[in-house]
Amino acid sequence: MNLVPMAEILNKAHKENYAVGGFNINNMEFLQGIIWAAEEMDSPLILQTSEGAAKYIGMDYVIGMVDAATKNTHIPVALHLDHGGSFEFCMKCIRNGYSSVMFDGSHYPLEENIKLTKEVVKAAHAVGVSVEAELGKLGGTEDNVSVDAKDATFTVPEEAVRFVEETGVDALAIAIGTAHGVYSGDPELDFERLKTIKGKIDMPVVLHGASGVPEADVKKAVSLGINKVNVNTDFQQAFTGKIREIFAEDSGVYDPRKYCGPGREAIKDKVIEKITFLGSNGKA
Ligand SMILES: [Zn+2]
Repeated sequence: MNLVPMAEILNKAHKENYAVGGFNINNMEFLQGIIWAAEEMDSPLILQTSEGAAKYIGMDYVIGMVDAATKNTHIPVALHLDHGGSFEFCMKCIRNGYSSVMFDGSHYPLEENIKLTKEVVKAAHAVGVSVEAELGKLGGTEDNVSVDAKDATFTVPEEAVRFVEETGVDALAIAIGTAHGVYSGDPELDFERLKTIKGKIDMPVVLHGASGVPEADVKKAVSLGINKVNVNTDFQQAFTGKIREIFAEDSGVYDPRKYCGPGREAIKDKVIEKITFLGSNGKA
């Protein structure tokens, strides 16, 4: 596969103050819609699968499809595991060719999160693979794991400093008020907290749960130091929304190319929109 480590993409974004999308793929149409848009926009790209998506698609298919998609590309692409839940699954992805993994130990107590993340970093860095970790706890639902809004906790700046020093991670996902999945109202982001954390750790910072967050808020977060913005739900809604529209107009459609094709176009349009306001266009 023609991949680069995610750190290479994010260190440049950190230095030049823009963000790159961490765009989740769920099937072939997602992958194509996303990479075609990034190529058109001359943007670096972080393709990611959750553990659930990797299992749904099948590891061999993920690798085969990403290999085909990146073979002749002119943009830097990283393949990243989103929310890896165990050391074992992170290693499985690395062995299969992922150039980056996230180990999400955010539900563990701090000490345990540090200890487990450190083990993943040691193994990943030995083979040139980047690692993202998370500190603080986002609300919402990701891959069937739900965190109640009242159990969500914001990232503590002092803990972030200690965490990155002790683990050596390449990027840190922080909790400042976003949630996974669909919002019921507009989320309130803690920009002051972001500013404080970025000032203390001076490295790539990641925002999860950005689907449905007003564009102006995401832009502001990027200006304050967010360098990777994860998007999944927005693309799922664009794809499925398009398909719903097609069936509403003509319930007799049966050829999957007649609805998956337009669904893929809808994802591509959404990706172009995201890349534009994240500021990664022309940065390939
Ligand atoms: Zn996430």
